[in-house]
Amino acid sequence: MVAQPITVPFVSFRPMERELDADLRAAFARVLDNSWYIEGKEDAAFEAAFADYCGAKYCVGCGNGLDALVLILKALGIGPGDEVIVPSNTFIATVLAISYAGATPVFVEPVLASYNIDPARIEAAITEKTKAIMAVHLYGQCADMDPILEIARAHGLKVVEDAAQAHGATYKGRRAGSLGDAAGFSFYPGKNLGALGDAGCVTTSDKALAEKIRALGNYGSDYKYHHIYKGQNSRLDEMQAAFLAAKLPHLDAMNAQRRTIAARYFAEITNPAVILPTVMPGCEHVFHIFAVRCKNRDALEKHLNERGVGTNKHYPTPIHLQGAYKELGIPAGALPLAEEISATELSLPMYYGMTEEQVTAVIDAVNSFKE
Ligand SMILES: *Cc1c(COP(=O)(O)O)cnc(C)c1O
Repeated sequence: MVAQPITVPFVSFRPMERELDADLRAAFARVLDNSWYIEGKEDAAFEAAFADYCGAKYCVGCGNGLDALVLILKALGIGPGDEVIVPSNTFIATVLAISYAGATPVFVEPVLASYNIDPARIEAAITEKTKAIMAVHLYGQCADMDPILEIARAHGLKVVEDAAQAHGATYKGRRAGSLGDAAGFSFYPGKNLGALGDAGCVTTSDKALAEKIRALGNYGSDYKYHHIYKGQNSRLDEMQAAFLAAKLPHLDAMNAQRRTIAARYFAEITNPAVILPTVMPGCEHVFHIFAVRCKNRDALEKHLNERGVGTNKHYPTPIHLQGAYKELGIPAGALPLAEEISATELSLPMYYGMTEEQVTAVIDAVNSFKE
């Protein structure tokens, strides 16, 4: 058939931008009028609001999600010679953070249904070098935190949440960002809470850790021109903080709409060739990604794209098979679940402002796929 133009993009920011247009322009005008761009009242106000939203005592803004995770690991004193347990199926930034801290990633396979790290496989990966477990809340659903926290307590390990895909997600009523020793968030524009550029933050309820993270992200300085660490420059600027503060009050409604779209996918996608994601007990999913699996994934993708439906893959090559991680010497076949997800996962359109017609078009296109 002749391919149609994409009528349902994989993601669009337009509906959100139109709705919040006046608020975003007012935020920009306020910062410009104030003529103050780094470490000011916009940053402080957003940090307070986001800490409160997450149910954490402190929030420290930084440049992006990768930096948030690096700053946490460094502040926890994790470095060369240390090992950090991390799921084998995540975005590469989770693992790069461990490398940037100078530590070694140790991959643990996920539960296929939840796509999140399998707590039952963690203990076997712990050695005397293990210092922390990085729990990723992949695709917008929290990892199974209670058993992870229990294992960590038993072995004296820290628990770091990679909450970059999980703004607003809950686990047994607690929000992502309040579940471990500290959490890293990304406000990359495509995330559920996105800035109009790069931005990120750390949440934690540990005051000393929050202070160390803030210093590490500000040239290691606890007050001006006084440097107690060899820090880096990673701060949340006033402009992005003001945009984020304008968007935060809408996050719950935007997440609720994602769940409404997901509910239609769950109810109306009936193609037996397509495996739908699973919402785990006790979890409120925020569907950063609606990740289905299909044995003939590439054929399904082609079928959808030809019918005007945009798609994506998260992520087409597992980290242990990336050139950047050759040094680990992990061969193909060694992490079969991560490899299975990479080979079969397809992400369907999911964004605030998708119309009923667009959701219907996705469902019809998926249901008309024949293996
Ligand atoms: C986006 C993302 C990051 C990195 O965030 P940036 O702001 O792009 O640096 C880290 N971990 C996960 C799981 C992500 O999805």
